[in-house]
Amino acid sequence: MRSESAAPTLDERQPARLVPRPLPKLLSIVIPMFNEEDVFPLLRERLSKLKSTWGCAVEILLVDDCSRDRTPALSMDWAQADRDIKVIRLSRNFGHQIATTAGLHFARGDAVVMLDADLQDPPELIGQMLRDYCDGYDVVYGQRIDREGETAFKLLTARFFYLLMRRLVVRNLPENTGDFRLMSRRVVDHLKRLREHDRFLRGLVTWMGYEQKALPYHRDARGAGQTKYTLLKMIHLATNAILSFSDLPLRMIIWLGMLTVGVSAALIVFVLYKYVTDPARFVPGYASLAIMISFFSGMILTALGMLGLYVGRIYTEVLSRPLFLVAETANLGAEPASVAAEPPPDAESVLRP
Ligand code: UDP
Ligand code: MG
Repeated sequence: MRSESAAPTLDERQPARLVPRPLPKLLSIVIPMFNEEDVFPLLRERLSKLKSTWGCAVEILLVDDCSRDRTPALSMDWAQADRDIKVIRLSRNFGHQIATTAGLHFARGDAVVMLDADLQDPPELIGQMLRDYCDGYDVVYGQRIDREGETAFKLLTARFFYLLMRRLVVRNLPENTGDFRLMSRRVVDHLKRLREHDRFLRGLVTWMGYEQKALPYHRDARGAGQTKYTLLKMIHLATNAILSFSDLPLRMIIWLGMLTVGVSAALIVFVLYKYVTDPARFVPGYASLAIMISFFSGMILTALGMLGLYVGRIYTEVLSRPLFLVAETANLGAEPASVAAEPPPDAESVLRP
């Protein structure tokens, strides 16, 4: 029914039609952070080193999702030392997807990278992403070959999630991708126009099309600290993903309804048959009545619940509240510092791979 299910996967698509372009004048890196004080020093060190090697001006947007630890203080520190570091502190915890969205909103670069704070996705890959950007790709997404240091439970749930998503929902959602990706300005601008509250960014970016490229890499263990995705948050993300891209639950109600009608029709035939052939022994039973009543009320409740999920979404969209509120910022208006004086070692290869 949905056109997505017939769409070819990204990998099956025809060879890309690419128009080469120069390095971005400004590269934005958006990093959502929630209680990341443990990994912060590592992140700062690695990005500070890398920043000057990309051959273009860089702004790093640290979106603090209302952390309860020293993350905001550390961010402000870094912003004070380097005006390319911009801090956006949200008024409360809005969650990973919205925090990233807030960063995208303020990013001004011609190319924008979304990166997690925990260094599971190596920022060193951004160099290669830039090369692909210069080749003409609009989206370059990291695709994990393996995941280190994650629990069997996390791996299993992640696997199940992608299976479900690819089978039922966005068939061309690339497997084993997170939000780590580079996007061109036009993709970011389109993304900013999608205002839905319950967002599943990687699904939205896949939906957008353009020339997209996978960049395979080994996913490291978290640099430090604990995962901020609780089981509940993962379930929430999966529900969002399904509800944003599929009317499958709604269609399932119809199947369920038809099945129910079929079963009850068979029941009626059976009861009539008993009534005609063996009227003496036919006792209308409370048991079957009770079973039927509970069965059907179960079905009705399920159907209502599913409708409720969608109605609830209509409700939140109709409210059209802002997606996020900002409490505090630093350096947002600052012009990017000029590009590093020393030429990056691989500038040549970045421009012309
Ligand atoms: N994050 C956030 N708000 C939250 C939860 C997480 O901004 O409510 C950030 C977190 O700091 C990290 C990124 O989102 O930079 C991904 O989170 P995490 O690494 O915990 O997720 P996982 O990799 O375990 O799925
Ligand atoms: Mg992580």
